[in-house]
Amino acid sequence: MNATRRTFLISSVGMASALAVSRTAFADAPKVSETDPTASALGYKADGTTVDKAKFPRYAAGEACGNCSLFQGKPTDAFGGCLMFSGKQVSSKGWCNAYNKKA
Ligand code: SF4
Repeated sequence: MNATRRTFLISSVGMASALAVSRTAFADAPKVSETDPTASALGYKADGTTVDKAKFPRYAAGEACGNCSLFQGKPTDAFGGCLMFSGKQVSSKGWCNAYNKKA
């Protein structure tokens, strides 16, 4: 094995390990509380179907964190990160007023 190939393999293993550790650490991140001041201001609900539609008329049936462009998890994940809530997880079935449909 030449040095370039060995360096590439070592880098790849290192990157995969870092991603695995990052994903594991993130899985332990706290979940956003609906009473969190930012969550409250954005009308976040862990179950998007319970959004106060009079207060947040932007909500439309079918919109959920799992299909929002700001959701950092996979659509099949129950919880994932959100760019609006750094270091915390939101429910993939949740919704908030910053919702932006994933392209
Ligand atoms: Fe969910 Fe998107 Fe609001 Fe984040 S920005 S809480 S992913 S709807």
